[in-house]
Amino acid sequence: MKHNALKDLYIDELRDIYDAENRLVKALPKLAKAATSDELREGFETHLEQTRGHVERLEEIFNGLDEKPTGKKCNAMAGLVKEGEETMDEDFEGEVMDAALIAAAQRVEHYEIAAYGCVAAWAELLGDNEAQALLEKTLQEEKETDQKLTELSRQINVEAKSESDEGEETEAEEPQRRGKARGAHA
Ligand code: FE
Ligand code: FE
Repeated sequence: MKHNALKDLYIDELRDIYDAENRLVKALPKLAKAATSDELREGFETHLEQTRGHVERLEEIFNGLDEKPTGKKCNAMAGLVKEGEETMDEDFEGEVMDAALIAAAQRVEHYEIAAYGCVAAWAELLGDNEAQALLEKTLQEEKETDQKLTELSRQINVEAKSESDEGEETEAEEPQRRGKARGAHA
């Protein structure tokens, strides 16, 4: 059989994503633990379950290819996880930390969306139809997760902002009193 360089690239990138997904299986419980919002925590827990499924789908694809899934380190995901850990080490509290966790998680989802979009296209070109279907299923779940994070952020960012406003008012009590008086007469 003629050597197919695109197939080599395809397998290489699948190994990269396999490493990335395994890193996420370890990182997502930490994000869940750091979340204040119940909805956000549950969102991370749901995506952890999905991510375990992503790992299994990749193993199924490697089985079909008669190749090993291991052997590559995803430096990008290692970096994104490290940034997430740095965020969790900051002394942000409550909804502000939640807003930061969402920002970290969306970077991860966007990376995965790019990666799965590419390998799904190559799977189609290479005639690996079963793999293509599995990769597109995962791609869809990554997109849905990203959308869900955007929806959650709409509420959480507002709460994060009002939390910051409250902090400012406590430091300057005069405007807060004036504000309350105005409210009472309205
Ligand atoms: Fe994933
Ligand atoms: Fe994901």
